[in-house]
Amino acid sequence: MIRTTVVTGAASGMGAATARRLVAAGHRVIGIDQRDATVIADLGTPEGRASAVAQVTELAGGDEGAVDGVVTWAGLAGLTDRPGSLLASVNYFGTTAILEGLRPLLARGDQPAAIAISSNSTLIQPNVPSAVTEACLSGDEAAARAAADEVGSLDTYPATKTALARWVRRHAPGADWAGAGITLNVVAPGAVETPLLQESRDDRTVGVFIDALPIPIGRTGTPDELAALVEFLLGPDARWFCGSFLVVDGGTDAQLRPDDTPVNWTP
Ligand code: NAD
Repeated sequence: MIRTTVVTGAASGMGAATARRLVAAGHRVIGIDQRDATVIADLGTPEGRASAVAQVTELAGGDEGAVDGVVTWAGLAGLTDRPGSLLASVNYFGTTAILEGLRPLLARGDQPAAIAISSNSTLIQPNVPSAVTEACLSGDEAAARAAADEVGSLDTYPATKTALARWVRRHAPGADWAGAGITLNVVAPGAVETPLLQESRDDRTVGVFIDALPIPIGRTGTPDELAALVEFLLGPDARWFCGSFLVVDGGTDAQLRPDDTPVNWTP
């Protein structure tokens, strides 16, 4: 049977690589993006998210329809001249709304799997503003946007990606996800060669740090390496993954913070 998989951010970078890989493997891919996708929508606004969910639902067969996979690559980098509020809305609320909105379609899918995208900046960027993370997790978009604008998008980026990882870990084991037979996991890439990474390199504040980060493997990642992991997580051999936070970064986190994972439990 042909599997139907929804890929946000399908127009560029790792989303485009994932869409290509899945099509080559025989999936029907429904891409969501602001351009060059099956479903054109702005995930930074409540209207755009609702429109994306409605369009995908229609394409997947209506209220009794189904999808088998969802991967949420759509996201924005923190940049000196980009407001933090935009990242709160796109990276966090734009992702959780899609996961929640498409969950009923996934629940009717065949071996359904969902994958959200975090970042290794959650581990290696110092002083992540917890107020932004907490405001995101509270579900109050206006409060999250205000907190994000106070600190700017460079610091908001890892806060949105931390909130997203925690959202996944809070929900994955619950009745709506694992209990409904849907696996939900989160992938945290390091520096992967995409237009987003280049935008960061070109930034006047953080640009100089991008290639200064140690990558023990000796190079940045390729979009297809991440697409390969996502294809595996969507597939039949990954049915025991639930709430996993998978860091794939050429060794940056292991080199910088070798003893900080795993964090032992102090009840
Ligand atoms: P990219 O810029 O190549 O692709 C991102 C896509 O998201 C684009 O097609 C863009 O149009 C889409 N998008 C942005 N805002 C949107 C909106 N409001 N509505 C709909 N679509 C929107 O970036 P990439 O590097 O492939 O990044 C994909 C994901 O991986 C992002 O969430 C990013 O934060 C994350 N990530 C990237 C890296 C890296 O080094 N490239 C590292 C860690 C995490």
